[in-house]
Amino acid sequence: MNKKLLYLLILLIPFFGIAQQKVSIIPQPVSLSVQDGHFTIDKNAAVIFNKNENDLLRAANFFNAFIKNISGEGLVYNIKKHKSIYLEIEKTGKIGDEGYLLDVTPTSIKITANDKAGIIYGMQSLFQTLPQIRTNAALEVPCMKIVDYPQFKWRGMHLDVCRHFFSTDMIKEYIDLLSEYKFNTFHWHLTDDQGWRLEIKKYPKLTSVGAWRADRRGISWSESQPTQPSEPATYGGYYTQQQVRDIVAYAKERNITIVPEIEMPGHSEAAIAAYPWLSCTQQPQTTITGGVYPKNFQSNYCPANDSVFTFLENVLTEVMQLFPSKYIHVGGDEVDKTSWKNDPKCQALMRKLGDTSEDQLQSYFIQRIEKFLIAHHRKLIGWDEILEGGLAPEATVMSWRGESGGIQAAKMHHDVVMTPGTPLYFDHYQAGPAGEPLAIGGFNSLKMVYDYYPVPKELDSSEAKYVLGAQANVWTEFISTREHLEYMVLPRMLALSEVLWTPKSEKDYTDFYHRLQNQFIAFDEKGFHYCPGNFTVAIKPTTENEKLFVTLSSEIPDAQIYYTTNGTDPDATSNKYENPIPIDSSVTLKAVDIIGGKVMGVKPAEQKFVMHKAVGKNVTYTNPVSRYYPADGPNTLTDGVRGTTAVNKYWHGLQGKDLITTIDMGTETSVKNISIGCLQRYTDWIFLPQSVTFEISNDGKNFTELGTVKNTISPDEKSPVIKNFTLIVPAQKARFIRVTAKNLGVCPKGHPGEGQPAWVFADEIVVN
Ligand SMILES: [Zn+2]
Repeated sequence: MNKKLLYLLILLIPFFGIAQQKVSIIPQPVSLSVQDGHFTIDKNAAVIFNKNENDLLRAANFFNAFIKNISGEGLVYNIKKHKSIYLEIEKTGKIGDEGYLLDVTPTSIKITANDKAGIIYGMQSLFQTLPQIRTNAALEVPCMKIVDYPQFKWRGMHLDVCRHFFSTDMIKEYIDLLSEYKFNTFHWHLTDDQGWRLEIKKYPKLTSVGAWRADRRGISWSESQPTQPSEPATYGGYYTQQQVRDIVAYAKERNITIVPEIEMPGHSEAAIAAYPWLSCTQQPQTTITGGVYPKNFQSNYCPANDSVFTFLENVLTEVMQLFPSKYIHVGGDEVDKTSWKNDPKCQALMRKLGDTSEDQLQSYFIQRIEKFLIAHHRKLIGWDEILEGGLAPEATVMSWRGESGGIQAAKMHHDVVMTPGTPLYFDHYQAGPAGEPLAIGGFNSLKMVYDYYPVPKELDSSEAKYVLGAQANVWTEFISTREHLEYMVLPRMLALSEVLWTPKSEKDYTDFYHRLQNQFIAFDEKGFHYCPGNFTVAIKPTTENEKLFVTLSSEIPDAQIYYTTNGTDPDATSNKYENPIPIDSSVTLKAVDIIGGKVMGVKPAEQKFVMHKAVGKNVTYTNPVSRYYPADGPNTLTDGVRGTTAVNKYWHGLQGKDLITTIDMGTETSVKNISIGCLQRYTDWIFLPQSVTFEISNDGKNFTELGTVKNTISPDEKSPVIKNFTLIVPAQKARFIRVTAKNLGVCPKGHPGEGQPAWVFADEIVVN
């Protein structure tokens, strides 16, 4: 036994009762009772099933492949032996299409289900009690009774293979993982600006041209420059129709439906590079290399050209031949409609249709495609932007920009799949971010995923039934290897599996975390890469009666939190956290998780607090703050909490507008030093303000300028920088203080967002 395994077992034993010691299944079954004894899988056992049922023969083969893989030998079928493993499809009432009953005694294992899907899930639960790789150990399955069925019928995982291409082997590994944790839907994002990945016989250039782009490996996604003239397109790949058929069959054996996504009308630059006549301008294009788009790129199909619809119908016809899925995903997200605004043909079409906005043109586009899919007995599903301009009559909505699109669609009695960016975008950070592989941004930890529930409280019970389930999305701009992909989905997809399968009343994060440690052993055995945990202590400031307190918490149930306030890195000899910490002077707080005396994670969590006269005072805004950067509430600029150079939650952001704030000090206060902290992050379109103006007033109406501080740092500075704009004046009495941070306006020349509205970010206004 290796040392790590031993350590984990020692860690595990105290958490389980003796009887339950060996059974830890994810997702947690609806009902599980463990009994004494075990069934040993060996050559004295046979698999017994009705051989006239082809589904059962296939399920038996699936079972035998697993057993052969770990023991070197499969079992015989339908021969009298001392011990039997029964597979039975029979009507068993309330466990539904995917549920199963598993009954293990020393001489028999019985898996019963209404359908093959349940038989497979029963096997998956059983497999989790066995070793995962070749072993000479006895294959002992603990005696137990399980009654199990899912809470939601859409249990999905998505994968983008356009931003980076993944081999058929990796796709099969992904499907295996989905099946192990009882997902039933694989959403395969097959087309985008950076690559078309599906062979279409009628349009060979979609893959001979659209599947390839100039090689930008080694350059960050956000700085990948467009293809230069005569530069070869050598990086990419695609799936042949034969490979797709093989994968669809592989998935079906594991009860996974593959929902293909063919993006339209936007995100279609790769198709347009292959066939330029698909766009409004019909000008030649190149497949996009990464995050930097060339000038005059054409990402949209032209809805005013009937041949575009003929093309899409021909493509979808081949797609439907390959994928038996009831749902066909047509994208529909992030359509920049400028090309339609500039195209006289599109404008003429709008007038003919009586449309007043380009949103309605998108609605026309999607509705026309929906008619085609319905005529072929399929259902259209798209991202929540398909709501804009009018939802197609029978469309299912995938809600990604939060839950609001899903709520709106469910209230209109349309089916909904919840995939909100927070917490279900698995391309976001799950720990750190110090020590983590570079991610696109955001933060969705294991516990955030585990605590998610797909039915929002805004829906009543008659509307809730339209929520089919949920799905995590894995966009791959920053994920180019198998190892990195495994790391981003493991273990978050296990948390999601429990969200979707296990009754809400049975969910328990601490218990899940302990069962997860067994899965980590399995991942180690199989050589999978995974994130061992989010060891970053959460630091949460709260104000109470104008006094600042800090609450510390950890996602790791077995960790203890230690902290310092003197700037040193904490260890097991520092202060142990017990209760909220009062903050009454300017300090830097650092905190760590400690397990068994060992500091976890690569860097302590750190937060700077600054005490000053305006802490806890009310602030009003002339221009509203972006809903994407609300920081930690309306008093963010006077909560004593400083931001860091990461775009974390302590920043207020506004796009294209000035930040104009007025602080009410409550009473006339002596003021001689005022400053505001601002952030520049070139790659995120965030720039320091051109200047900051400070004014005071006693009535809140008539203000007197105290002075203006100009920015001295170039907007072309690419390293993240925090600058305090500080004004020092002879002491003045004032009740109101107005601070105006003048937005740079637009991103500067040479920036990827040149001419587009710039962001201004501020964290705190310090008054002394
Ligand atoms: Zn057009």
